[in-house]
Amino acid sequence: MSEQAIRKVCVIGAGTMGAGIAAQVANAGVPVLLLDIVPKDGSNRNAIAEGAVAKMLKTEPAPFMSKAAARLVETGNIEDHLEKVAECDWVIEAVIERLDIKQGLYAKLEAVKRPGTAVSSNTSTIPLANLVEGRSDAFRRDFLITHFFNPPRYMRLLEIVTGPATDAGVAAAVERFADVAMGKTVVHAKDTPGFIANRIGTYWIQLGLNAAFDMGLSVELADAVAGPPMGVPKTGIFGLVDLVGIDLMPHLQESLTATLPDDDQYHAIAQSHPLIDKMIAEGFTGRKGKGGFYRLARDTDGRRKEAIDLAAGEYRPAIKPLGPTGPAARGDLRALVETKGVIGDYAWAVLGDTLAYAAGLVPSAAADVVAIDDAMKLGYNWKAGPFEMIDRLGAKYLAGRLEAEGKPVPQMLRIAGERTFYRVENGQRRFLGLDGEYHDVVRPEGVLRLADIKLASKPLLKNASAALWDVGDGVVALEFTGKMNALDGDVMKLILQAIPLIQSQYKALVIYNDADSFSAGANLGLALFALNIAAWGEIEKLVAGGQMAYKGLKYAPFPVVGAPAGLAVGGGCEILLHCDAIQAHAELYTGLVECGVGLIPGWGGNGEMIERARNAKMMPKGPMPSVAKVFETVSTATVSKSAAEAKELLFLRPEDGITMNRDRLLHDAKQKALSMVEGYTPPEAPTFRLPGESGHVALNMAAEGFRKRGLATDYDMVVSDALARVLSGGEADLVDTVSEQDLLGLERETFMRLVREPRSIARVEHMLGTGKPLRN
Ligand code: NAD
Repeated sequence: MSEQAIRKVCVIGAGTMGAGIAAQVANAGVPVLLLDIVPKDGSNRNAIAEGAVAKMLKTEPAPFMSKAAARLVETGNIEDHLEKVAECDWVIEAVIERLDIKQGLYAKLEAVKRPGTAVSSNTSTIPLANLVEGRSDAFRRDFLITHFFNPPRYMRLLEIVTGPATDAGVAAAVERFADVAMGKTVVHAKDTPGFIANRIGTYWIQLGLNAAFDMGLSVELADAVAGPPMGVPKTGIFGLVDLVGIDLMPHLQESLTATLPDDDQYHAIAQSHPLIDKMIAEGFTGRKGKGGFYRLARDTDGRRKEAIDLAAGEYRPAIKPLGPTGPAARGDLRALVETKGVIGDYAWAVLGDTLAYAAGLVPSAAADVVAIDDAMKLGYNWKAGPFEMIDRLGAKYLAGRLEAEGKPVPQMLRIAGERTFYRVENGQRRFLGLDGEYHDVVRPEGVLRLADIKLASKPLLKNASAALWDVGDGVVALEFTGKMNALDGDVMKLILQAIPLIQSQYKALVIYNDADSFSAGANLGLALFALNIAAWGEIEKLVAGGQMAYKGLKYAPFPVVGAPAGLAVGGGCEILLHCDAIQAHAELYTGLVECGVGLIPGWGGNGEMIERARNAKMMPKGPMPSVAKVFETVSTATVSKSAAEAKELLFLRPEDGITMNRDRLLHDAKQKALSMVEGYTPPEAPTFRLPGESGHVALNMAAEGFRKRGLATDYDMVVSDALARVLSGGEADLVDTVSEQDLLGLERETFMRLVREPRSIARVEHMLGTGKPLRN
């Protein structure tokens, strides 16, 4: 069958997963029908699905990217509304993990669905072969497993399992929708228990728990070893179990023990621990329960972090353990497992066997090493997948140590021998296959990563904080490279060098990087250094240089497209405001947060925001409404919680693009830039009509309201007064027009005044030290 477009989706089961999956379909802008059972008390027959949506609207981090998305969810129940499945192109089953219930539901679905409508199960553990027992050939053709991870909006992994009868066109349509519309990275898994990520993840967790109990480690030390030094999130193992729920562990164990083949290594390590059983029985199930391995305890001094002592089974104040140091702390896995004492012993106990176990799953659970690595990176947020870690440790070293301990050496390790699993040949990343040969790592059509381009080429320009890359077809990409992609004089210098280069040899510019955070804004560390030595001239140069570079981008004779993902705040937001267009990742957290550190936007952000507000649909006429809107957003340092919300806040324009799949962002931005090349003319410089002194007074009155309600401090009033003065055009009269250059001058002068204020300096210092704003 040919691939069919998916225009409407039905999700059955409005629990944790079903509701979250439905929200993500809605986030993609696609209507979704969410059904659950009729509750026993039956007065409102749709109560479960309706309740799930209502609950999601209050959940943080939010499952919905916007209120508009929530309106795309239609709720109902499986008794009254199942025939509506005929309107849908994909039905996702996410009901409780019971084979009889799932099979019963499929029998009913078979009677109402259109042929060709895909049906997939979100099961974590039940083999596909069992799910389709008793179903017709036609049903089996449309059936597959789509295993989402929790929470579905934020976890990028989707494991897809097809059966022998699954139609390739049906699977392709689901895969494409999940990838492009829902933003998931699809990993193909075989029909084996736990698929890939949870199979390895559960093994790793079990090893980590066992070894910590055996060796008498503190949970803090265990997590400090099996955490960041291994490229694992800082929750480590105990912290992760707290997060997902300690009570989930026995269920996973039971299910895997029952279904894994007898010779699987997992059987040898699966065990319960009396302390864990006791914790579950008493409701200490982790963050959702009374506490877990860690908990926040309240005492007279406020909150205090505690951890459980694994030997005594009692809570005690949390400690800061002496974890790995030197190269062992920084990703040198060999140094880590060879560290003398408990650190090295624990690291080896967890890592050695986990990597060996993962290596043993090719080809039984996954076709190749890439699938295993992708699954662990996206499903467990590991920085490197198991095979990438083996490359760092050395395949031969791992095999040697396993052999010395009398453990089996997996086939893939033998195939690798002294080689690595990945290598780069002629700028192309390749992986080692089962046949002993290297094969290209192939990205899906429309996926472009700067990391791949970097393997194959040298930058056109580069300095300490930025680089410029040729991304093909006449488009170049500006990459920030500093810590947190912070912006400084070097970034501005590179922009000014790039403009004539692009003008003479290329067609368009995309501002993009592969990092989790597009940019944390101006380099505050550098700024603080300058503040502390009162190098006002240097600071003014940085402000003026940034204004010049950003306006240079705005008026450059070629299209400039900003392609942000993740955090883009302060100066990182201002650069986006100067682009001709934006192609944003759906997960965009952007805002002008300068007021939080006692400053105001200083790189042209004020004027650009006023422009946007003035052009916004529904904005009442006259200078005051748009200025008031900008003042409200900027004085409160509001940051969007999605790209959709960034549009509502006017950081993005209505016509700016949103890409759901992070891996597709650069490609989409490049296409957008290319589409603008023909007939491109830079914008004309705006002139502003601003509300002047009377507007300034009105904005201050609004801020005073905040202070009266205890929402603003005295110093917030000083900062917002400075912002109000800039936004209302300083001493300009209502009848005057203010040029862009005048407004930049006013912005610069006001910024320089604030930056000398001791309370602003204290805010900057506090932000750098704690990562949190100081409310002085
Ligand atoms: P849940 O208990 O939160 O929700 C299950 C929902 O199914 C409930 O709302 C229940 O009322 C409903 N339900 C029960 N019988 C039904 C029926 N006959 N028809 C329609 N609805 C029915 O469970 P969950 O955690 O969302 O898990 C759902 C599925 O997703 C399971 O197969 C689970 O294995 C799988 N899964 C869970 C996670 C996770 O982290 N929770 C992750 C991946 C996959």
